[in-house]
Order: sequence, then structure tokens, then C-alpha cells
Amino acid sequence: MSTPPISPDLAKSAFAQFALAHLPSTTERQIYPVIDGSSEAWTATAAARTAEVSDHEADQALRRFHKAGIVDLDGGRRPRRYRWRPEMAYLHEGIEPSRARDPICGMPVAADAPLLVQEGAVTVRFCSLACLVRWRAHRPVVGAA
Ligand SMILES: [Zn+2]
Repeated sequence: MSTPPISPDLAKSAFAQFALAHLPSTTERQIYPVIDGSSEAWTATAAARTAEVSDHEADQALRRFHKAGIVDLDGGRRPRRYRWRPEMAYLHEGIEPSRARDPICGMPVAADAPLLVQEGAVTVRFCSLACLVRWRAHRPVVGAA
């Protein structure tokens, strides 16, 4: 399979779509660049120091990133450590057109991603509950309770 060339404009619009869905607060916009592309496991304290926000703000942002599927929890260690998910690299590298994407945030989703809505013959899959909820809120779903 070949990867199509990615223009800076496409990368910019992919980030804009993602940010709209997942990085709504100023703190989240400050924290994301710190962890973006990092292979380290970040504590809220370490992320806070680098982004120059409070520990509490960093903790809240990382929890939201976790809920949104942007980071994974690194084991059960205390304090909590979060790892940036390599799947997010699409923001820089683009996505093969054949891959399924979350229609809300634009993230690539696995062909068997568990969060989905069936619309007639079409299956729409989501990266997180946050995106699925937003989809439901903006689309009339036939037969929904
Ligand atoms: Zn999403």
C-alpha cells in the first residue's frame, strides 16, 4: 500500500478537526504539544512543569486525553503516568484513505473499534465515547431510545 503525500494544509486541517473535538480548553492546548510524539510516560506534575500550568490543570487535561483515547495509562503506578498513543501520529503523517475514521475528530479507528453507530448499511465508528455522544447529539438516529 502506498501512502499519499501529505500537504501542510492537510496536516493543519487534521489537527484543527482533532483539536475542535478533543482539545477545547487553553490548558489542553498547552499540554498536548508537550506529550505529542513523546515516548515517555508523563505524570501530571512533569507535564505541568513543561507546559507551565498548575499540577491540577495538567491532571485534568491528561484525564480528559485518556478518556478521549489520546493517551494510554501506563500501568497502575502512582502517581498516574500517561503515554501518548502512537496512533495519533496521523496528525503529522496523514491517514491512508482506506482506513476508517472517526467522523467527529478525524482520528483513524480500528476496523473493529467497539464504539459504533449502525446507520442502515453503514457502520460509523468512534475513537471515544465523547465523539459518539457528540455524533448522537447532532444526528437524528432512527430507532434510538
Ligand atoms: Zn474521536
